[in-house]
Amino acid sequence: MEQKDDVWPAVGIDLGTTYSCVAIWQHNRVEIITNDQGNRTTPSCVAFAHNNRLVGDAAKNQLTLNPTNTIFDTKRLIGRRYSDQTVQNDIKLWPFKVIPHPDSQDKDPMIEVTYKGEHKHFTPQEISAMILVKLKDMAESHLGSQVNNAVVTVPAYFTDSQRQATKDAGLIAGLNVMRIINEPTAAAIAYGLDHHVPDNQLLARKNILVFDVGGGTLDVSLVSVSKHVFEVRAVSGDTHLGGEDFDNRMVSHFVQEFNKKHSVDISDNPRALGRLLLACERAKRTLSVTTEATIEIDCLFDGIDFISTVTRARFERLNMDLFRKCIDLVAQCLSDAKIDKTDVDDVVLIGGSTRIPKIQQMLQRFFNGKELCKGINPDEAVAYGAAVQAATLTGVCLDKDDDFVLVDVTSLSLGIELYGGEMRVVIPRNTVIPTEKMIGNLTTVHDNQTSAHFKVYEGERCMAQNNNLLGEFNLSDIPRAPKGVPKLKASFNIDENGILTVTGEDTDTGNKKTVTVTNCSRLSKEDLNRVLKEAEKYRVEEQQYENLVKAKNTIENYANSVWDIATIYGEMVGIDCQTLKNVEDEIEKTYQWLDWNVELVEASNYVDRLRELKNISEPFVSRCCIFCCRHAEDEDVDVEELRSMIASRFNGGDKCTSLMNDLSMQKHKTD
Ligand code: AMP
Repeated sequence: MEQKDDVWPAVGIDLGTTYSCVAIWQHNRVEIITNDQGNRTTPSCVAFAHNNRLVGDAAKNQLTLNPTNTIFDTKRLIGRRYSDQTVQNDIKLWPFKVIPHPDSQDKDPMIEVTYKGEHKHFTPQEISAMILVKLKDMAESHLGSQVNNAVVTVPAYFTDSQRQATKDAGLIAGLNVMRIINEPTAAAIAYGLDHHVPDNQLLARKNILVFDVGGGTLDVSLVSVSKHVFEVRAVSGDTHLGGEDFDNRMVSHFVQEFNKKHSVDISDNPRALGRLLLACERAKRTLSVTTEATIEIDCLFDGIDFISTVTRARFERLNMDLFRKCIDLVAQCLSDAKIDKTDVDDVVLIGGSTRIPKIQQMLQRFFNGKELCKGINPDEAVAYGAAVQAATLTGVCLDKDDDFVLVDVTSLSLGIELYGGEMRVVIPRNTVIPTEKMIGNLTTVHDNQTSAHFKVYEGERCMAQNNNLLGEFNLSDIPRAPKGVPKLKASFNIDENGILTVTGEDTDTGNKKTVTVTNCSRLSKEDLNRVLKEAEKYRVEEQQYENLVKAKNTIENYANSVWDIATIYGEMVGIDCQTLKNVEDEIEKTYQWLDWNVELVEASNYVDRLRELKNISEPFVSRCCIFCCRHAEDEDVDVEELRSMIASRFNGGDKCTSLMNDLSMQKHKTD
């Protein structure tokens, strides 16, 4: 396969609820890209601090100090309506504020923060875009080149509007989302590469159950894998079942305990809840390896310290109904795929929460004691598979015949509402995509009806209103006729990203109306333009901020270094008292100036301040260099430490070396 230079490099991105991961196919293998902290996964967290915006670890680390302006869980909001029951339930648990979009009729959710002293509103797409930009930047500094293309994964259960909104987030981040693929499919690819099927077994198909439970969602998929064909046979899951639910159960438990012990209800205090949540998440992880964990939080509320313990058994009891639900969904997936559990060849564990021993134990018991496949890293497998898919799309993957085919399925049935409110399924759930299906035999219900209203739904309930409304449109200009005479039809088309286009047609006239189903959660063109402009503005602002921080650090480091040399070696070098005092005074002045200007000032101010400091300090540093050179071979004076200090602190190794050279030249001349 040819490499397509216009789309290379293309990365694979697992945009997770709690953590995200980015990977690239390079040097004939997948490389997981680390962030600036050296971590292979990055918290999906954005914080609006006093005067700068933080993304990833830096954002998560200051969560408890700034809970109302630290945004996480955006994946739970993206592509959903404000009125959605799950959104309403989540809002109660989040320390940050979510409000209905003031301009949108169907009320998209908007996140409200205070940033630089002003109230700001962001769509979930914008926040997700900030995380994507972080991942893009990481990839760019890893590769040393621009990255504009990506394959992004979403839970198999994501609806059409959630997929669209994820694509929009990519667009805002300046990424061309080449393909949206389901997370379990990506995991199956990772599994497939890890378990290379020998050529003599090319026809052998393996049934893989991918069990993916991360921070926010549970995805169960039955995937058939032969050498290069990954066919998703069935999916089931829950868009709101994961590690955070387990954490929240523990938080509620401790809120009650605190209330009982101290007669204080902390459930309305975002800061206390945020700190308790972090401690509970840590305790949960500990309980995956030990049987008891301690929670210890100083001054949790009103100066009261909180210390308690939780056993693994207690944690399991708190979450048992959720764990059972996980197993029920496995059974449902197998039943949809019409496969007996004994025909499953491997059970692949994906997502951080699969480390919970009870979940593993229950799953293993369900599969009659079968060993679970834990060979692939549960945190990285999805990004790994996405990177392989990205490489395939750019034509750089593996060797010539290693191109492979993904066969995905729809996660929910799609259909239209009939007169009377009944849901007529057009594409049943678990249909292989891309796909195109049509229903005819549609007609008008009133005499002389000149337009027909199509309402498109997804879901499994018989009455359309109990399902999820994806979009609606009018087919107009139907010639007047008695009811039942016009012949109408609707065609549904799902592309390889799982995105749906519906066409209504009057077959007598050929008049058509086609819409890509975009419900309220899709950003309008104007919104998108505005958001793109804002994203660029934030990028520029952040770059400026970073430059200021760098300038401030440079001046601080310089002052510290001169101070150290002056106080430790000033006397040894033989600098007279007055010169030393001048240097020390100038450094003191610099420290004071930095203290007065806690808020970052103009970059030019830093340059001026550094120049002033250097004017006084450089002759002193040069004299130290000369001293080192003169005494380089003097056994009575140990200048090595001073020399290496100058070298490391001032990049002054060069200066010292060139001075040394000059001096030895002069020495030669006089010799
Ligand atoms: P993911 O979305 O796959 O990154 O998974 C993140 C979730 O996995 C978070 O809720 C974590 O708290 C959870 N998690 C990570 N490691 C562990 C562990 N050792 N035990 C239990 N849960 C974990």
